[in-house]
Amino acid sequence: MRARLARQLALLVSALLLIGAGRPEPIPEAPELLRWVRSLADPALEGRASGSPGAERAARLIAEEFRRLGLRPGGDGGSHLQAFEVMKGIRVVGGNALEATIDGAARPFAAGPDFLPHAFSESGEADGELVFAGYGITAPELGYDDYAGLDVRGKIVLVMTHEPRERDPEGPFRRAEAFPYTELRHKAINAREHGALGIIVVPNPHHADEPPRLPRGTSAAWGILAVKATRAVAEALLAPTGRSLAQLQAEIDRGPAPRSAAVPGARVRLRVALLRERGETANVVGVLPGNDPRLAHEAVVVGAHYDHLGRGSQFSLAPEQADEIHPGADDNASGTAAVIGLARAFAATGGARRSLVFVAFSGEELGLLGSTHYVKHPPIPLADTVAMVNLDSVGRMQGRRLFVLGVGSGTGLRALVEEAARGLDVELALREDAFGPSDHTPFYSRGRPILFFFTGTHADYHRPTDTWEKINAEGLRSVVAVAFRTIRALADRAERPAFVRLPDPSGPRGGGGGYGAYFGSVPDFSESDAPGVRLADVRPGGPAERAGLRSGDIVVRLGGVTVRTLDDLVFVLRSRRAGDAVEVVYLRDGVEHRAQAVLQTRR
Ligand SMILES: [Zn+2]
Repeated sequence: MRARLARQLALLVSALLLIGAGRPEPIPEAPELLRWVRSLADPALEGRASGSPGAERAARLIAEEFRRLGLRPGGDGGSHLQAFEVMKGIRVVGGNALEATIDGAARPFAAGPDFLPHAFSESGEADGELVFAGYGITAPELGYDDYAGLDVRGKIVLVMTHEPRERDPEGPFRRAEAFPYTELRHKAINAREHGALGIIVVPNPHHADEPPRLPRGTSAAWGILAVKATRAVAEALLAPTGRSLAQLQAEIDRGPAPRSAAVPGARVRLRVALLRERGETANVVGVLPGNDPRLAHEAVVVGAHYDHLGRGSQFSLAPEQADEIHPGADDNASGTAAVIGLARAFAATGGARRSLVFVAFSGEELGLLGSTHYVKHPPIPLADTVAMVNLDSVGRMQGRRLFVLGVGSGTGLRALVEEAARGLDVELALREDAFGPSDHTPFYSRGRPILFFFTGTHADYHRPTDTWEKINAEGLRSVVAVAFRTIRALADRAERPAFVRLPDPSGPRGGGGGYGAYFGSVPDFSESDAPGVRLADVRPGGPAERAGLRSGDIVVRLGGVTVRTLDDLVFVLRSRRAGDAVEVVYLRDGVEHRAQAVLQTRR
């Protein structure tokens, strides 16, 4: 009886609310939003790294709130949690070895003080002749190749960090487009592509010789054994050449001209034992069913990632503070607080005509893993998802500026957002383009209109200083107010936005950054053990599309380089130029295909 009465009352109230102007907007007050930011950014949650106990606690807090608000479970088996696997971290386990034999005499080095594996190393063992390969760089357009005339197949190479003549402003590697050659990615994959079994990287003599640090983060293995070692190790290994590393470096830098050569009488045995720890994490999914029977089968997804970097990881921008908790108050406790606030506001008004799916994603920092998992397992089919609204880093509003990206991804979105913001305390900065390194991307690449709310970058981004006291709580409330009206319009209007496919302004990874040629592929960010890089999409008019590739294809070779991970793709593109024709080998439905792609300029 009581339940029936309550339901009738609720229907009456929501009917009244639907009538006429002046519908109340129960946006939570700023202090309440800030309380959520603070509890998610609390040091007890240790930076919410996906797969960690802190992230699990955060998920439980959010799920509890969704339950309290009466949101229906949208996760696995009638729960609010939608679980998936992630790589939690990398651990050095026993049995790492670096052992040289020089003129028949054994010379072992100690794991820890002398050398340690790189995070991107394979695990395994190799034994081979030692070859000094300078800086380990192959840069044909700069006329510099440490591997010229060198045979390193089945051998172990010793290389230095950085690049020739790095202190010289006129140095050939000073050009911005040459920068990728100095990265470890280039050195390691380049060694592998030349057939080396292992690579030993030592700090070049212009840089501090520190004891190697433990590998951290969640890097994939790059298909080669790789260790970092001290300069003392390098000097011992180079003894048969009669030269010190500094002398060799000076000779190389003078040209610059490579001085690579096999080290006479030296062999190296390398053994790497790394454990890539896997674990479980979960999206939190709550559904507020639509109140119009004709539209309730359709949905608007409102999402924000709640995971962050834990204690740094390889994505920290403060590597010197890499053991400190990165609280991620703006990135993205702020967006999570906004989603909770929106869920509260909509629950209080009896929902909207279409269903609303509120999602707190995990795995974002590891490569959009949670949102990629969601689009494969949505509680309401993607075809019935009329739009996705993403809130990432919305807690540091400067002035009154609110960025909303993706207004070009669906018909009518620009006008809809402008109308939603009318009379509210914000100054909109709208952008048409819809790609970018956050959770809306898997939705957009599957043909869903998206809107991405963002309040701009700041110096605390991905650092331990992204703390809750720095949050602009009134600004956060303004974001929630604009998002509320935007979502209500998307969910209530009879007409739904039609998807618009946009030319991509910034290149494959979105958000700018990166040099090299452009291939026009959108990698599927989900982890998989399958070899190759699976494409979620190809950019309209881009080289990949022109070569006949499409969503679902798995690229296994590009320009003669084996593609196992995204890093291989980046390696190839960074060492090529626009206009280069490269062969693409890809798998479609398990069958291998070949095509030619002409690379373009990255805009
Ligand atoms: Zn982030």
